[in-house]
Amino acid sequence: MVRELKEKYNHRCQICGLQLYKGNGEYYSEGHHLRPLGREHFGVDDEDNIIILCPNHHTEFDYGVIAIDPKTKRIIHVDPKNEFHDKNLVNKRNLKNDYLIYHLENVFVTR
Ligand SMILES: [Zn+2]
Repeated sequence: MVRELKEKYNHRCQICGLQLYKGNGEYYSEGHHLRPLGREHFGVDDEDNIIILCPNHHTEFDYGVIAIDPKTKRIIHVDPKNEFHDKNLVNKRNLKNDYLIYHLENVFVTR
């Protein structure tokens, strides 16, 4: 599922829009499950649980310093001065609200 989505969105980070060029006409991106897979979180490998990211923004999601507002679908960053805070997603699509809320309540940390 992650592989299909990366191609569908041309490996473009949904936060910053970066397409990381690998050479040979190929690009690199990473897929992040908003509600993580595995026993602790019981997330699912569905399209509406996956966001396509560059390595930097994937790291920010893993550390819980960035999230998506379930109501407005705008980016929330712990640093309100961050350039992507309160901006719209790139390639906005129907991420499931349940997963956005889960990420916000269980992974996102305010410091
Ligand atoms: Zn990015």
